[in-house]
Amino acid sequence: MAAVDSKHQIVLDAKAYGQGQEHDLLEPMIEGVKAIFAKAPASSQEATKQAKVTADSGYHNRKSVEYIEEEGIDAYLADTGFRSRDPRFKDYDKHKPKERLKPKERFTQDEFTLDTKAKSCRCPASHMMWLKAEKAKIDPSYFISFQGYEKTCGECSLRKRCLRKERQTTPRQFNVKLSATEGSKNDALARMREKIDSEQGRHIYSQRLGTVEPVFGHITDAMGIKRFTLRGKKKVDGQWKLMMALHNLLKIHRYGWCWE
Ligand code: SF4
Repeated sequence: MAAVDSKHQIVLDAKAYGQGQEHDLLEPMIEGVKAIFAKAPASSQEATKQAKVTADSGYHNRKSVEYIEEEGIDAYLADTGFRSRDPRFKDYDKHKPKERLKPKERFTQDEFTLDTKAKSCRCPASHMMWLKAEKAKIDPSYFISFQGYEKTCGECSLRKRCLRKERQTTPRQFNVKLSATEGSKNDALARMREKIDSEQGRHIYSQRLGTVEPVFGHITDAMGIKRFTLRGKKKVDGQWKLMMALHNLLKIHRYGWCWE
């Protein structure tokens, strides 16, 4: 992992944690940066208090979002649904090879005829579905839930486009979001979603890609370091820090000492 500044792409802190999942690593990374800046002049410490933090959905979980709030950090953490809520990415996969579109070839919500007042639903094959739950709570939202009948779904010629798997033995379930749950309206995750979905949030988060990814590109492609040559967490961590130090030295060498 690496924490990178957006202005000069200098790595502020780096550590190899030796684990595949990143969910719980945001807090130690931020604390690591804080510890480094604790030794810096007061003006630099002040600047870090105003810094904005962006991190991808790999770091998003309740614990990290609550930590961010408690610490008063102005952070923008994407969740896994962030792109799908962003209208700018509506057609993002239209140029992908056809076979990768298969999950999206399932019937969409618009192809079901729903009447929330009458609490009824007709599936794309024009069969009535039965009301499974009027208000099911699947945090952070309430849903109205319908299900197809075993017999009709079992014999349906449209199963391939309707069910997750063609061989699925359970009938189609269809959930429609009604509203956010009461708890979620006052919830750290909901607040983060609202923040990152705002125009300003999307703009700030969009800088993440051009900040951190070029550092990895620089190390692997420009400097030609494509793999670790040592084994063991401690040695790999040391090698990772060396790579980052090398990246920083090259940046400083090119900028000189006159940057702001
Ligand atoms: S699989 Fe079931 S729910 Fe889906 S279209 Fe066929 S009958 Fe309707």
